[in-house]
Formats: sequence, C-alpha cells, structure tokens
Amino acid sequence: MSEKIKVKVKCHHSGIFKTDGGVLNYVDGKVEVVEVDSVTIFEDVLIYLLEKQVKNIGKMWYKLPFEELSDRMPLFKNVDANKKKLVAKGRWMGEIDIFFEKADADSLEGTLPAEKVIEDAKLVLKDNVSEDEGSDGQKSDAGLSESSDSEGEDDIRENDAEIVEEDIQVFNNENYEEQILDEDEEYPATNDESGDEEQQAESDFKKNIIKYILKTRRNVVYSRWEKKKLEAKCKGKGCHWEIYCSVENPIGKWMVKRYHNEHLCHPTGRCELIKTPIIADLFLEDIRRDPEMSGPEIKDEMKRRYNIIISPNQTKVARRRIFDRLQAECDEQFSRLRDYELQLCKTNDGTTVEINTTTRDDGSEAFSQMYIFFEALRSAWKQNCRPIIGLDATFLKHSMKGQMLTAVGRDPNNQIFPIAWAVVDCENNPNWEWFVRKLKEDLGLGLGENITLISDMHKGLIHGVATELPMAEHRACARHIYSNLKKFHKENMLKPLF
Ligand SMILES: [Zn+2]
Repeated sequence: MSEKIKVKVKCHHSGIFKTDGGVLNYVDGKVEVVEVDSVTIFEDVLIYLLEKQVKNIGKMWYKLPFEELSDRMPLFKNVDANKKKLVAKGRWMGEIDIFFEKADADSLEGTLPAEKVIEDAKLVLKDNVSEDEGSDGQKSDAGLSESSDSEGEDDIRENDAEIVEEDIQVFNNENYEEQILDEDEEYPATNDESGDEEQQAESDFKKNIIKYILKTRRNVVYSRWEKKKLEAKCKGKGCHWEIYCSVENPIGKWMVKRYHNEHLCHPTGRCELIKTPIIADLFLEDIRRDPEMSGPEIKDEMKRRYNIIISPNQTKVARRRIFDRLQAECDEQFSRLRDYELQLCKTNDGTTVEINTTTRDDGSEAFSQMYIFFEALRSAWKQNCRPIIGLDATFLKHSMKGQMLTAVGRDPNNQIFPIAWAVVDCENNPNWEWFVRKLKEDLGLGLGENITLISDMHKGLIHGVATELPMAEHRACARHIYSNLKKFHKENMLKPLF
C-alpha cells in the first residue's frame, strides 16, 4: 500500500461557475478547508460534504492552487481517469482546489444527481468501514464511473486504487504540461563560444531573462525572436511588462528600445520558460555532489530556492539530462587522456606519466592503468621529507569506477605530503607491484634500504612491496588497526592507545 500522504483540499461548494465579461468566476459558493488522505481525496471530500448536509451536488471540478479557474479539470466525466489524475496531483502538490457546482435543473445533463452521489459516498463509507474491520471488502473505489455516460471519449485506464510513483506521469497529457512544454526548441540554440555578435546578444538576452524569472517568479515568455529583434513579455493576467531590443542599424549595436518594468500580475510560481534544460543547469552541481538526489527533492529545492513550481515529469527529464551531461563530460575527458599526458609533460619538466592500455577482443584499445608523478613533488620529497611513505587505495565513483592508488609522505611540519598516484581497475597483485615499481624507479629507492612504508597491509600491497622493495621496513598503519579493532571492541578505552 502506498504511504499515507495528507492533502489539503480547499473545498468550494454550493456555488456555480459563471462567465462575466469574459472572466470565469465561481459565485455564491462557500469554501471549507479539509485535510484528507491523498489516495481517497475524492471520496473523503464527498463524505465530508455529506456530513455537512450539503446537497444538490452537480458538476465537480478540480485545479491546482496556482492554476486559473479556466484551467480547472472536470471530475464529472471520465471519472476513473480523472480521479487518478486528481490523486497524483494532490500527492505531488500537497494542496488542491475542488469545486462542487450546485445542480442546475436546466443543465442536469452530464451532472450527477445528488441522490446518486450520496449513494456512492455511502458505498465508500461502508467499504471503508469494512476495510477497517479487517474483512477484505472491495477497494474503496466508489462506483461513480457507472454514472458517467461519457465513456469512450477518452480511454479509461485500468482500475487500480494504489497510486505508485509512475502514475504521476499522468501529468503528461494534459493542459498543465501543454503550457509548460519541455522539449520544444522554438528558439535557436545559442552557442556561447561563437564570436558572432548577434548570437552573443541572443544568448545574453536569454540568460538574463531566465535570471530575471528566477528572481521575480513572473511568467515571462519570448514574444519575438528574430535575427535583429528580441522581445519578451509577461504572460500574467492583464500584465504589460515587456522588454524589446533590436540592432540599431547606424551603429550596428544591440539596444534596448522599449522596457516597461511594471507588473500588474501576481507571481504564481509557474514559469513557462523554466524548462528542463534550465532546471538541469540549476541542479548540475548538486547532482554531481549527490547523484542520489531524487526528482521530488529537486522539486522541493526548486520551491525553496526560487519558489517556482515544476512538474514531476520535468524533474525526471532534468535528472536524465544531468546524468547524460555528466557522462558526456566524463567521456570527453577520458578521450583526451593522451592530450593530458602530453600537456603534463610539457608544462612540468621531468614529470612521469604512464598510461597503459589493454586490447579488447575486437582489437580496440581499452584503458587499464595511469600513473602520475610530478617532478616538483619528487624533488621536494627527496630534499625535505622523512623517508616514510604511506600507501593506500580508494574507490573511484561515477561511471568509470576503478580504484586510485596513492603514495603520501610527511613534510617537515609533519603534514601529509602527496607523492604519486595511479588509477587502476582494482587493488590486486600486478597493479600494486607495478605502482611500487614505478615509485621505486622515480624516487631511486633501491631495494628499500632506509625506507619505511606504512599501509593497511592489503595482500596485493604486501606482495608488491615484498617483490620490489624487499629491504624496506613495512609496518601497519595504526589508524587502520584501530578501526579494525573498533569493529569488535566498541569501548572508548582503545583510542588513547593509538
Ligand atoms: Zn507580470
């Protein structure tokens, strides 16, 4: 069963929708706020109204708090599918507006007679009670769909009362999404590196509009996008905010020609231009740091940082975009390893870089090992550091995986001093032996006379040291011993001993 999420419902009842001078209003109604379980929003609200003795219920509608009345969605036709959408939106938003129109004798067609509603709600009540008693009564899915005569208009989805994450995708095919299109590239993609002044202006314009939206939460959209003319307007109701700029021909420069900086609208937190590429930009670094960041977390963070509302689908697509981008970054850097090697050697005279590859079955090259030792570190270690080297390995994250082998020393201030490092597929005998041999050659360690090594005593490491530096003093790292002992002896008495 899905976890219990409460939804705050603003329940408007006993009124009707009326259009006055082109503006839609809900008139003569009452409002009550009620908190219900998200899975049974519809049923719970009906029961609530019945308990309040509200009768004569006609058409039902719902909308998200920030949506306009005209965006409301019907609950009186295609009931099952719409109820699911209601549940998904309610769970997502935590708040929802539901409207019950008074049944009107003139327009009873397509509405639910009050008796029927009451009957259905009673059925729900009964079901709920029987469920509470532990008997396996049928799921609390009031038979409202039977009274709906509009089946066939849309396909009605299979019944399943449990709403799982995937169901949130029902957002996909409705007005809400249509107005926040994601993948449409209405405007040419701009390229920052291009020296072309027009493209640069476009890109600056775009960047600053997005900045402005994030700051003000106004629903500003591009209204003109030509080679020499750019314009953006606020889409808020009755709002005249706009900015227009174009190329001033005599001087060939971009100029802001018109700027009306006054909003008559209310910021709703719903901004059409905040699409997935923008969201991906905003959260790239967050996901780089914490790849586990989920869609709902992105949504919450978007709300917290900018007070802007984005849809579940947008967070999903944005996350995918970010991962694609991080992967592409990784691939790009990987493909330029040889360039990196050249550059390191060119700019750091005497530096040792070794990149080894293996051959795949199809004959292509595959990365196997990389070793880096900067000349500056080598000479500094030889001149200043004590003859002690610490060896250890650590796991690498992201798509590449593998392990990093490191060698560190102690400088005259007794601080950690980096010596050399390598990237390998895993910590094993051949890899440690190779790394220790490289170290030995670069530092001129001979057979390891007068040198002390500290490590966690990994088997591969012991093998490598024994093979390459047989004369070295090889001791276990106290920190590793302590943490191993601590696993079995939780008392605090151990720590002072180390
Ligand atoms: Zn405005």
